[in-house]
Amino acid sequence: METKICTKCKETKTIDLFYKRSDQAGKYTSHCKACKRSHDNAHSSLPEIKIKRSEYFKKLRSTPEYKAKESVYRYKYNSLPKVKEAKKLKQRILRLNPNFVQQERLREVEYAKANPEKFAMKTRNRKIAKLQRTPFWLNPGQKFEMESIYKYCSALRSIGLDYEVDHIVPLQGKTVFGLHVPWNLQILTASENAKKGNRI
Ligand SMILES: [Zn+2]
Repeated sequence: METKICTKCKETKTIDLFYKRSDQAGKYTSHCKACKRSHDNAHSSLPEIKIKRSEYFKKLRSTPEYKAKESVYRYKYNSLPKVKEAKKLKQRILRLNPNFVQQERLREVEYAKANPEKFAMKTRNRKIAKLQRTPFWLNPGQKFEMESIYKYCSALRSIGLDYEVDHIVPLQGKTVFGLHVPWNLQILTASENAKKGNRI
């Protein structure tokens, strides 16, 4: 086999102990694999290089492309049969523990108390998703607008005013079906809302 002298450790080694050069086909690096590896390791553990690297990955992870890729990856991973099975098993074991069930329930109650607007939005969202009246084309601004309406309403409720968020055109009207969109929302008192019902 062909041999080569490493310019770093000055040893004569067989050619398979050298990396191929990516820029020149058929040529090999002047440092042997062992020397190159120890050089690279020493370089990558330098504090400034570590900071640079962590910043690079932080930036990379915050890009929408990366997030999209990651969510696809996560979805694929979570839908693997063995991952699903493992999750189910874990849940089954946890549910055997009555303390865990109690803790979970308490945590949910605490969360609902601490974030009434989020919780209201969550339960409401679930119902609305069922009705499938939220258009897919809503932009983030419009979604924010809706969240703000719910937040405002829950602030009114928190000071004892009995207000509710109402759909001007009901989502499940008798003749027409309204959309879950910001311009179809209004804040009414609970009694006004009850009077209105699903009539239009
Ligand atoms: Zn060497």
